[in-house]
Amino acid sequence: MPEVFTYQHGSLHAEAVDLALIAAEVGTPFYCYSSAAITERYRRFAAAVAPLGGRICYAVKANSNQAVLATLARLGAGADVVSEGEARRAVAAGIPPERIVFSGVGKTEAELAYTLDTGIGQVNIESERDLELLSRLAAARGKRMPIAIRVNPDVDALTHAKISTGKAENKFGIDINQAPRVFARAADLPGVEPMSVALHIGSQLTDFAPYEQAFGRVAELVRSLRAAGIAIRHLDLGGGIGVPYHGGPAPDVAAYAEIVRRTVGDLDCALLFEPGRYLVAEAGVLVGTVIDVKQGATRRFVVGDFAMNDLIRPTLYEAYHPVLPVAEPVRGATSSIVDVVGPICETGDFLARDRALPPVEPGDLLAVTHAGAYGAVMSSTYNTRPMVPEVLVNGADWAVVRPRPSYEALIGLDQIPGWLA
Ligand SMILES: *Cc1c(COP(=O)(O)O)cnc(C)c1O
Repeated sequence: MPEVFTYQHGSLHAEAVDLALIAAEVGTPFYCYSSAAITERYRRFAAAVAPLGGRICYAVKANSNQAVLATLARLGAGADVVSEGEARRAVAAGIPPERIVFSGVGKTEAELAYTLDTGIGQVNIESERDLELLSRLAAARGKRMPIAIRVNPDVDALTHAKISTGKAENKFGIDINQAPRVFARAADLPGVEPMSVALHIGSQLTDFAPYEQAFGRVAELVRSLRAAGIAIRHLDLGGGIGVPYHGGPAPDVAAYAEIVRRTVGDLDCALLFEPGRYLVAEAGVLVGTVIDVKQGATRRFVVGDFAMNDLIRPTLYEAYHPVLPVAEPVRGATSSIVDVVGPICETGDFLARDRALPPVEPGDLLAVTHAGAYGAVMSSTYNTRPMVPEVLVNGADWAVVRPRPSYEALIGLDQIPGWLA
């Protein structure tokens, strides 16, 4: 974990701010993000790819809070978005539209029209229907939209099946064997300018061998496209770099950059990278309060006020997130094996299972770490639990960057039809 979440004076801090203090003021559960951790990761990635002429378009879906986006915008990040909503969030946070890439497997006509009318820099095409529609909409506006065609290189990313995207059986991109034909079609269309090949083979990759394989296939494709007269000047290499949820050092982005150099470095292409998780996962924690500690027939349960609706990764992906008491455990305290669960009426409502935890009591605070990516963005209001609030820390400063809605506001979203009024 980045050195931004540390015990100081017996309590877990985010940078210089005591999480217990935030809990007292905001209530629990809440997410807390560290500006320093995001900044450190961004700079590290940028430094690794700068010698290759790489630019970063942060994958907004990992964490789309306006304050997180504004932090990255100030560092110079562009954005990779997969919906009009995300594009609007990126623009609202100050990311210039020309530095936004619009990806995604099913783009509506309204979304494509929005990208053209807003001056979004690039559209990543994932189907022939995408291509024809975008060209027609662009031509009607007298425009030629720069596009990448996202190819599916048919490699196994060796990650969880639900976040693997580069196998032939996955819904993403255009089969790499069909790409030459689709590029040739694109070159004939009036409203698009095919200039880039894109790929994104999956998320949470900890073994980089699949990148080597996939980028190698893309390099071959670029050579054959150029031979056919299609001027590929850019490559969009996607995201997917994993983080050490089980602890240990951060993934070696220099080794990743070396693979990029070796496979596509001699193509003289401008490179674009779309990291999401790598930039924000370790920068966030989810803090909750212990409601109850309960001994079942065979298992011991720590019931918190956080739940699967706040952080769905454990139950959706069997994901592992470390859990720490906010009050520093006394040295030599004997741990017991517990399941950390929430109050939701689902057996799948757990945040950690079979976890050694020092003794905790109702009222104690727990921090679920490595929760900055695919946490708050995947939250819901299931069981009519208000959307979990978010806090951003910056040194000794902190601010609520998404407040907890009131019950009135949450219930007030529903409307009673006339015949029931
Ligand atoms: C999700 C996604 C990313 C980011 O993936 P991470 O694993 O968070 O780095 C990048 N590009 C595309 C097209 C995506 O869908």
